[in-house]
Amino acid sequence: MRLCTFQNGHRVGAGLYTESHVYDLGQAFFKTFKRPAKFKDAGDFLSQTAWDKLGELDLLALKKDRTVALATEDVRLRAPLLRPPKIICVGLNYKAHAAEQKLEPPKAPLLFAKAANIVIGPGDAIEIPRGVSDQVDYECELGVVIGTPGFRIPRGAAFEHIFGYTIVNDVTARDVQRGDKQWFRGKSFSTFCPMGPVIVSADEFDPAKAAIKLRVNDELRQDSNTSDLIFNVPFLVEYVSAIFPLEAGDVISTGTPGGVGMFMTPPRWLKAGDRVDAEIAGIGILNNVGSR
Ligand code: MG
Repeated sequence: MRLCTFQNGHRVGAGLYTESHVYDLGQAFFKTFKRPAKFKDAGDFLSQTAWDKLGELDLLALKKDRTVALATEDVRLRAPLLRPPKIICVGLNYKAHAAEQKLEPPKAPLLFAKAANIVIGPGDAIEIPRGVSDQVDYECELGVVIGTPGFRIPRGAAFEHIFGYTIVNDVTARDVQRGDKQWFRGKSFSTFCPMGPVIVSADEFDPAKAAIKLRVNDELRQDSNTSDLIFNVPFLVEYVSAIFPLEAGDVISTGTPGGVGMFMTPPRWLKAGDRVDAEIAGIGILNNVGSR
């Protein structure tokens, strides 16, 4: 299944995404279970563990109810997680991305964080921070979305805690990243975390072999596969959850493959008006536009 956060007029909530319709899950739960239900976004839906009951929804019957089933073309997709509890990122996690920097693959995951309130959704503008950076770069990444909370999760149990997967663009101000001793500032400017378009549930997606690509103005810049990951998803869940408890809606962004703008000759930075399409096979395309 595909979870999303939809907007229809002023109405924003968690949705079940299909080609033809987006089901308003708050309305669907109200109609099915006869109890008021409100899900502010897909993350709120996950944190209420309402997804356990998704199988009980009669989608064929609900499809006829216009308060529940909205035509997909009448809906704007927002970031599935409007404000995740944590955005945990992994640096240097693709063999080819380490190689393009002439670096040895790390012996342990290199972790950093992005601020949680900088997430934007499909179609939203990536704002190049005027006067602060003119070296803004993209990084297409597979985002792991936690469903069941856990602390010190062994890798063998990792999949019991993963709800699904989404696309993250780990936008980075390279001049700021290089100038600081750590990466939080350069990775956390407002709008620097495009996410979406949907979360695909774990039963429908294999994180060990998915094509991952990024295009700028239709020019292919990144073209790889998650099979090139140095530290795989179960390993990362174990490693990260050994530090702090993972909560529903937390995102682990697993790192980017080769082909970022910084290592092109000469480097090519994101400009106002550039169209950035981040794509992972089986999830979709996350499109954003640079702006000033
Ligand atoms: Mg990254």
